[in-house]
Amino acid sequence: MSMETRDAEAYDVAVVGGGAAGVAAAIGAARLGARTLLLEHMGFLGGAATARNVLTYCGLFTLGETTKQAVRGVAGNVLDGLRRLNAVTGPVRHRGVFVVFDPEAVKLTLDRLCTAAGVDVFLHSFVSEAEREGDAITSINFDDHGGRHGIRAKAWVDASGDCDLATFAGASVRYGNHGHVNLGTLGTRYGGIPASVEIDAERFKQAVDQARAAGRPLTKDVSLFARLPISGDVCCYLVSVDYDPRDVRSLSKAEAEGRVQAYEYLDILRTMPGCERAYLVSTGPEFGTRESRHINAVEQLKWQDVRAGRERSDTVALGAWGVEWHDRTTFESTFEAPPGGAAYSIPLDCLRSRDTANLFAAGRTADGDQQAGASLRVMGTSFATGQAAGVAAALFANDGTVDVRKVQSALRNQDAVLDPRDMLEVRRATTLFRA
Ligand SMILES: Cc1cc2nc3c(=O)[nH]c(=O)nc-3n(C[C@H](O)[C@H](O)[C@H](O)COP(=O)(O)OP(=O)(O)OC[C@H]3O[C@@H](n4cnc5c(N)ncnc54)[C@H](O)[C@@H]3O)c2cc1C
Repeated sequence: MSMETRDAEAYDVAVVGGGAAGVAAAIGAARLGARTLLLEHMGFLGGAATARNVLTYCGLFTLGETTKQAVRGVAGNVLDGLRRLNAVTGPVRHRGVFVVFDPEAVKLTLDRLCTAAGVDVFLHSFVSEAEREGDAITSINFDDHGGRHGIRAKAWVDASGDCDLATFAGASVRYGNHGHVNLGTLGTRYGGIPASVEIDAERFKQAVDQARAAGRPLTKDVSLFARLPISGDVCCYLVSVDYDPRDVRSLSKAEAEGRVQAYEYLDILRTMPGCERAYLVSTGPEFGTRESRHINAVEQLKWQDVRAGRERSDTVALGAWGVEWHDRTTFESTFEAPPGGAAYSIPLDCLRSRDTANLFAAGRTADGDQQAGASLRVMGTSFATGQAAGVAAALFANDGTVDVRKVQSALRNQDAVLDPRDMLEVRRATTLFRA
C-alpha cells in the first residue's frame, strides 16, 4: 500500500467521473444511504454536457411515432431542474428525439442534486492510480494542487468514459471493439445568428464540399444545428479528427487541429444567408471522445439481441437511442434506430466487471458490442446505466453481494424505468431543426 492510501478516508462507494453516468451513479448510491464520493477532474460536473459542448440529451425518449420517456429517476430530476431555470427545449425530433439545454444550468442543477443527495463531490481531482487485493479494488490515488491523496471504498463505479479506474486497477478492459472505434468530434458553439435564421443544411454541405475540394482542412459536412435555450447560440458537431484519447501527443494534436477547423467552419457559416455576423463562442473546451475503453463485463450487450427484441428478467436500465456510428476514415455517419423505435433492455451483467467483484461500469464504459455500444453511450442512457451501477455498488458495499432483484427494487423506488410498459407518454415531439 502506498503512502497516500495508508491513512486514506474511507467511503462505501466512490465514483470516478462526474458526467451523466457518474452523477446518476453517485446520487443513486447516496439515496440508498451509502457514504458516497464523486471524483471529477474538471471544475464542474456534467461531462460531455458541460466540458465538450454536447448540448443535446439523447436516449431519454423513444424514437417511435408516440414519444415516451424511457429514462426517469435522476435524469427526470435533472430535466425538472433545467425546466425550473427555463434552460431546456424539447423534446424535439430530428434523426432521433432529444432535448436541448444550456450547459451553465446543467452545472448548477447537478451541483444542487448532488448536495441534496448528500454526495461528497471532489472537483479538480484526477484519479491516477488504483490498488487491488485479489479480485477487489481497495483504494485509489487522485491528484490535485495539494499533491497526491488516497481514498478507500468498498465498491467503485468507473464512469470516467475512458475506463481510467478499471485500467489503473488492472481490471479487464478493451479499446473499442475489434479494431472499430467511433470517431471523436469537437463540439462547437456559434453566436451572432439571429433567431429567425434557419441554417440550410444542404447549402451548408455544398459549401463545405467546395471548400474541401479547394484543400481547406474540413472533415464532416453534415451536422445537427441545435438552437440553445437562453443564449440562442447554435451548437454543432462537425470538427472531427481521428486520434487516440489514451495518447497525450495524439490528443494534443487533435485539439490544435480542431481549433483550426472550428474557424474554417465559421468561414463557411458566414457565407450562409443571415449568418454574416456569426462568431465562435466556444469549442469543447475538450475534444469529444465518442468511444475509448470499455470494461469487459460479465455479459456484453449484443445489438442482434436488441434487433430480435429479446426480453430480459435482469433489466436495470432502458436504452432508447439508435446505433449512431461516425466513421474515422470517411467522416460519414449512419444511424439505425432500435426496432419500431422502441426501448430495449440493458441487463445488470453488462455493468459488472468480469474480474473485479466490486467494480461497476456506467455510461461509455459499459459493455456493448460495436453497435450496442454506439447506442447505449448517449447521455440519456448514461444517466440510466449510471443510476443502476450506483445502486448496485451501494448494495454491494452493504453486504458484498449483487442480487439483481434487490437492485431492481431499489431502482424502482428511485423512479427508474425498467419496464417499457412503465414509460410515460410525452406530448408529441416537434420538429425544430433540419439536418
Ligand atoms: C461530438 C459528440 C457528440 C455527441 N452527441 C450526443 C448527443 O447529441 N446526445 C447525447 O446524449 N450524447 C451524445 N454524445 C455521446 C455522449 O456525449 C457520451 O457518450 C456521454 O457523455 C457519456 O457519458 P459518461 O458520463 O459515460 O461520460 P462523460 O460525459 O465523458 O463523462 C466522463 C467524466 O469523467 C471525467 N474523468 C475522466 N477521467 C477521469 C479521471 N481519471 N479522474 C477524474 N475524472 C475523470 C471527465 O472529466 C468527465 O467529466 C456525443 C459525443 C460526442 C463526442
